[in-house]
Amino acid sequence: MARLIIRGGMVLTLDDANSYYEVGTVVVDGATIVSVTAGIEPIAPLAGDTVIDAAGKIVMPGLIDLHYHTALGKGYNDHLPLWEYLDECWYPIIRALDDEAAYWAAMLSYTESLKNGVTTVNDMYRKLDSLAKAAEEIGIRAVLANDVALDEHNLDTLADNAAAHANNHGRAGGLIEVRIGIEWLPLASPELLRDARSLANDLDIGIHVHLNESQTEVDNSIARFGMRPTELAYETGLLGPDTIAAHCVWLNDREIALMKETGTHISHNPSSNAKLGNGVARVPEMLAAGLNIGLGHDAAECNNSADMFEVMKFASLMHRAVRADSSLMPAQQVVRMATRNGAAALGHNTGQLTVGYTADIILIDTNNAMFTPMLRDDPEHLYSHLVFAANGSAVDTTIVNGEIVMRGRELTRVNEQMVLDEAQKAFRRVKDKIVVVRR
Ligand SMILES: [Zn+2]
Repeated sequence: MARLIIRGGMVLTLDDANSYYEVGTVVVDGATIVSVTAGIEPIAPLAGDTVIDAAGKIVMPGLIDLHYHTALGKGYNDHLPLWEYLDECWYPIIRALDDEAAYWAAMLSYTESLKNGVTTVNDMYRKLDSLAKAAEEIGIRAVLANDVALDEHNLDTLADNAAAHANNHGRAGGLIEVRIGIEWLPLASPELLRDARSLANDLDIGIHVHLNESQTEVDNSIARFGMRPTELAYETGLLGPDTIAAHCVWLNDREIALMKETGTHISHNPSSNAKLGNGVARVPEMLAAGLNIGLGHDAAECNNSADMFEVMKFASLMHRAVRADSSLMPAQQVVRMATRNGAAALGHNTGQLTVGYTADIILIDTNNAMFTPMLRDDPEHLYSHLVFAANGSAVDTTIVNGEIVMRGRELTRVNEQMVLDEAQKAFRRVKDKIVVVRR
């Protein structure tokens, strides 16, 4: 197959040994990384090969946004706490969606993500046929899940999720996957959670759920079910090594132990938690307990940026701030959370530059003030700049499944201006249809 030869970059592999090559070469054959070496390999390109001169650029695994919603209503509602935000902003928007609006919302969201170096999104939203179409066209790796809730809430059902799976799972050469998505426990019942687990097992797919996001959610769970959210998720079988629990801000020690016992993966979403006033997750305790924790931006309505560099910075600074401890969450650990840990949570063969792994790779331009000064022979200096100094505008090239989908900050498969124009129109149309039902 045609090869992609990425030559002369500063290669941060994120492999088991955290190998770093100040000048290195990565060779991709089809979708697979076939060599990662120090120096500039004197490989003679064959017809059809693509050679990228990566001098002055960091070559690293693509970022994995582990808790994600395609979104259209950025800046529409910025000052409500979680429950009111859901009732007055998020649910009215996603109930008013039409197929075309969902498609352009996904195109807009995936455009922002690819431009910020994200190669995989774990996207819970509605109208998955439209999302899968957008992901396939733009070339992003997308794990999609519905917003399943009890029928009375007028969102999605498990039957919708099963249909979305039948239509889209494995599409685009496996770039698109479908999982079961549970909106959150306040809109669910124990029966729905048991049915979700049984459908996930029947289809042999994982589960994506919001869990322990706010104190109001915990109070609601205790009042309705007589137990905390993670206890109910455990009792109903929802947890497991194929489950990603988003947020987990309010876990007590017993709930952390249940996460560990079941092998459930966590998406930590610090900027969303901060903006919605939900609190600060006990990430140091969760890491100490041995949980696998990735990072997510959540949604444009509650973040409002999909820039995972910003999420990485929050993931370090929030914990330092509240505990007055500058030793917490060092940069290298945070970069691993945004790459390898996300891949492990999804069971993907990505998240590191290692022979045999799938080629989801980004190139980061360091010829700018964000990365200057930098000691190129010290990888700790690179990690530091990635987490504390950089933002997504430094991403020059994004490669998914061995294909260049952004180069020189230009998307290669879609016209970005058209996406912006159409998303603008779609938001107007949806906004005009929004009905807010106040509780
Ligand atoms: Zn969310």
